[in-house]
Amino acid sequence: VEDGGVVAAPSSSSAGLGVVGAAVEAVAAVAAMQDEVGSRREGPEPDPDDEPPKKKARVPGGESGKLEERLYSVLCCTVCLDLPKASVYQCTNGHLMCAGCFIHLLADSRLKEEQATCPNCRCEISKNLCCRNLAVEKAVSELPTECTFCLKQFPRSSLERHQKEECQDRVTQCKYKRIGCPWQGPFHELPAHESECSHPTKTGTELMGILGEMDQSHRRDMQLYNGIFSLLCYEKIGFTEVQFRPYRTDDFITRLYYETPRFTVLNQTWVLKARVNDSERNPNLSCKRTLSFQLILKSKVNSALECSFLLLKGPYDDVRIKPVIHHHCFSNDTNETEYVLLPISDSVECNKLLAAKNINLRLFIFQVQK
Ligand SMILES: [Zn+2]
Ligand SMILES: [Zn+2]
Ligand SMILES: [Zn+2]
Ligand SMILES: [Zn+2]
Repeated sequence: VEDGGVVAAPSSSSAGLGVVGAAVEAVAAVAAMQDEVGSRREGPEPDPDDEPPKKKARVPGGESGKLEERLYSVLCCTVCLDLPKASVYQCTNGHLMCAGCFIHLLADSRLKEEQATCPNCRCEISKNLCCRNLAVEKAVSELPTECTFCLKQFPRSSLERHQKEECQDRVTQCKYKRIGCPWQGPFHELPAHESECSHPTKTGTELMGILGEMDQSHRRDMQLYNGIFSLLCYEKIGFTEVQFRPYRTDDFITRLYYETPRFTVLNQTWVLKARVNDSERNPNLSCKRTLSFQLILKSKVNSALECSFLLLKGPYDDVRIKPVIHHHCFSNDTNETEYVLLPISDSVECNKLLAAKNINLRLFIFQVQK
């Protein structure tokens, strides 16, 4: 096979193309810079202003690529190589990271107890050291992007409408879903399915069974919220903001755990502990992240203290935690609960907590009185 795909970079190729040519040349220059930065893995970049103007160099994707394709390689996240969908951050040397990768790097560094560094140039990164790059965010939003269903390219501005309303391959559900049809498939197959769907011809008795199952799951949700509402009627309720701080065990191979300072709720002294991935040895090596916690009563009690408790997000955090009510009867012998999972929706949300120096949550304790 001949390598005829590689096109040399004649410096006059864009002469006479006017604005477009200038834009392509600018992109090429930026791409070349990024490329060089990428290949030189240590030390800060010299300020580009101090250097003579760059000669036009190799561009990833080839000279012949379309402007959009070349912009992709310039504007993509240097970690996951995808085009950032939301905020874009940059290290002090200008390497771009999408918000997800940035938070992941910060969370990993907490787990490894190391300073987070830019994967490209190894300079230190943190929420204070890195800033957003609005120009890149705006440039990305101008680029065409691929529909996740039909894989055709659309301008970002019209993609949302296309995916929601126009795409023939978008995932749709049968209109008889409300009476239990589980079918889902591409939009273009929907009319065929609906014309032969068996659900509208089901008997009333059959439908009653289906609706009963659907009521069940709704009832479970209602039970949880009614449970919380009835706890709120208790006479003795205490709550406080709790701050988990990272520590290391003094084992031969140390493990990360979190602990709050002692706090007082309902006239008792308590401590919360938390661990990542159930104390997995190297949680930084796995993509899945979970946090579980334990409530410990530190004061001595004369009689057993039966409590319900609830850990929710703190006042200034945006992490999503589902409410789950736990119960425990605390006494001098049983002063620790089991480790229970903090119900965070997914690993991305969990990384948001781990990326921060301390984890701030709010704890409610309800004392059960008989
Ligand atoms: Zn990324
Ligand atoms: Zn960097
Ligand atoms: Zn589509
Ligand atoms: Zn159906």
